[in-house]
Amino acid sequence: MTTDFDLIVIGGGSGGLAGAFRAAEHGARVALLEPNALGGTCVNVGCVPKKAMWLAAEVAGRLRMAETLGFGRASAALDWPGFVAHRERYIEGIHASYRRRLDAAGIALMPHRGRLLDARRVQTDAGMVLSASHILLATGGLPSRPPIPGAELGSVSDDFFAWRAPPATVAIVGGGYIAVELAGVLQALGSRVTLRVRGPRLLEGFDADITAQLADDYRQHGVDIRFGTATRALDGEPGAIRCQDGQGDWSEPVEQVLFATGRRPASAGLGLEAAGVAVDARGHVPVDAFGATAVAGIYAVGDLTAMPALTPVAIAAARRLMDRVFGGRERRALEFEAMPTVVFSHPPIGQAGLTEAAARERFGDGVHVLRAGFRPMLHALAGSPQRSLFKLVCVGPERRVVGVHLLGEAADEMLQGFAVALRAGVTLDDLHDTIAIHPTSAEEVVLMR
Ligand code: FAD
Ligand code: NDP
Repeated sequence: MTTDFDLIVIGGGSGGLAGAFRAAEHGARVALLEPNALGGTCVNVGCVPKKAMWLAAEVAGRLRMAETLGFGRASAALDWPGFVAHRERYIEGIHASYRRRLDAAGIALMPHRGRLLDARRVQTDAGMVLSASHILLATGGLPSRPPIPGAELGSVSDDFFAWRAPPATVAIVGGGYIAVELAGVLQALGSRVTLRVRGPRLLEGFDADITAQLADDYRQHGVDIRFGTATRALDGEPGAIRCQDGQGDWSEPVEQVLFATGRRPASAGLGLEAAGVAVDARGHVPVDAFGATAVAGIYAVGDLTAMPALTPVAIAAARRLMDRVFGGRERRALEFEAMPTVVFSHPPIGQAGLTEAAARERFGDGVHVLRAGFRPMLHALAGSPQRSLFKLVCVGPERRVVGVHLLGEAADEMLQGFAVALRAGVTLDDLHDTIAIHPTSAEEVVLMR
């Protein structure tokens, strides 16, 4: 078997797989190292199983409304192990599809961990030494626990996906993507959730009005949100864990504590020093706008770098990079300005472009904001208090749209099209000139005044 390649990819997650496939399309001879399940975080302990749980939680919410709407009584209790079996079958299908595609592309998949020996050679944990003129680092990230006493009593998102039953009570530490998403899922599926947020708001980086409305919606669903609540220590035993706050007070015991306090890049043990690749203070590998490190021939994409930790970003970075390295397409830098992102909360949040605060900082008085707050039809029919809030952030006399912010039913599906429009430079007049689709929530975006 050959040990010399055009490209060695270390890590078979979102970025690594995308890079390997695109390089092979350009005719490169590619080796891919992945010791764990193909698909990395996203497929195995991230986007995919999370979305499955979110869908289950959405169904539970609908079942609860069904009785009010006149359907017979339906149980909203989930057979959790039964649902997890469906989820895992779906994920096995993705693994099988990747294996078929790797075979068809002629990519040499090696089920091993890789470590750089120098800028051209990689050693596998089976002792084999591979060489290539190009190396792509795509080892992603790992959940991190805060360094507090008793932290080992708490779980992280990887553990959540191994749970076989929902805890009766759970304290979630954090106010970011994972804390908000798993709080919504667990509350809908029967847990009593306390969200311990050290700051004054949810989802720093999202529009403040939108996250304030989400906090209201969560409280209506029964989530106990505690802002300004530090978590200094954990104590107790598995199944009865207490949290200590910044004043030294201890909470009531809960069955599970879940840390959703950020992730760290998987840069340790990768042999970066041997190849002369530096890391920043947080352990990220610094790269330029094209994914190149400071060492010629070594590249990095995805959560290993400081780019936004999202699957489509890792994929787009890897594809653009390989188009440049093996496809001769020079100007393929990634732009993040109008980047869309969705939080799978209940209801979901979709955001593309600038928040109102960021736009005011950049454009001052030239910012024009439009809002639409409403109760979506299904919730109005069922007497549910859940509310939606949409916002448009526009700038300049031409009122160019620089931010779209959607909180509400189907916001996750609505956003992609508006993200295209935003990138293309859509103005408020363009939206107003577009015929609405009635009756939908989406029509509010083109009717906002
Ligand atoms: P990863 O997907 O983490 O892949 C890295 C791979 O490298 C892993 O398979 C690992 O086994 C392998 N590896 C590590 N070290 C080595 C080594 N030395 N040798 C060989 N292989 C190695 N993003 C979204 O866009 N939408 C979502 O809805 C979403 N939901 C998420 C939910 C959760 C709970 C989490 C944790 C993340 C979520 N994300 C979501 C983020 C998304 O999963 C990541 O941004 C994405 O997976 C990053 O891709 P990556 O290729 O950089 O790394
Ligand atoms: P985030 O960065 O989104 O949020 C981390 C949260 O933890 C923040 O609220 C932060 O508070 C808080 N925190 C950090 N340290 C502590 C501490 N010691 N004590 C208490 N709170 C603390 O990280 P996540 O772990 O939620 O998710 C990781 C990344 O994965 C996300 O940033 C996102 O890129 C990606 N992801 C994407 C999803 C999607 O696309 N739908 C879903 C899930 C994850 P503070 O703000 O005060 O620092």
